[in-house]
Amino acid sequence: MKLRKICKYEGTITLVTGLAIRGASNEMGIGGADSEVIKNPITGEPYLPGSSLKGKMRSQLERALGRMSGSEPCKCGERDCPICTIFGAHKNPKAYSAPTRIIVRDSVFTSESREKIRSLPLERGGYLELKAENMIRRNSGTAESPRFMERIPAGLTFTLEILLQIFDDDDENKMKKHVENALRLVENSYLGGSGSRGYGQVKFNGEWKDVEVIK
Ligand SMILES: [Zn+2]
Repeated sequence: MKLRKICKYEGTITLVTGLAIRGASNEMGIGGADSEVIKNPITGEPYLPGSSLKGKMRSQLERALGRMSGSEPCKCGERDCPICTIFGAHKNPKAYSAPTRIIVRDSVFTSESREKIRSLPLERGGYLELKAENMIRRNSGTAESPRFMERIPAGLTFTLEILLQIFDDDDENKMKKHVENALRLVENSYLGGSGSRGYGQVKFNGEWKDVEVIK
């Protein structure tokens, strides 16, 4: 198998509602949130891990194509399986479908978003949203003390970069369609946590370009 070209889908992710992808640490931050969003430890700026978007694209497309094996991701490893070919065969080191064709980069704020954040008045005390979430006790109907969940507010935009490696026998257009469909399915679902409560609605915008053609 020979690598023929590398295509890139480049664009933006717009947050239609507040989004929360949790970091590993749940320590109380300076802002006093019980649960913080994942941030770059050097800059302190939130980002969307490529692994989160890739995982969500995969699970949504698996459902749409009926390629789940029970509750597990597809691991058939067949050369004609779009899931295993594009996203990788789950825990199957002997897959005929290898190598994984997709690379989803981490998403960072666009320069427009950084500008928007920079122009906010200082007395606002930061741009991240602290949302109080009440847990209602169903038997008594009383609320427990609310937890403060940090969210990235609606309206901000992130970069979107997806690379697709096309090998000699691959159907390039079909693979691109699967990637585009996966993005549309994520738009009709959510990214990050608490999606059933309205968090994480996103909108993707982008287009394909050839970044490298191997002769
Ligand atoms: Zn498969």
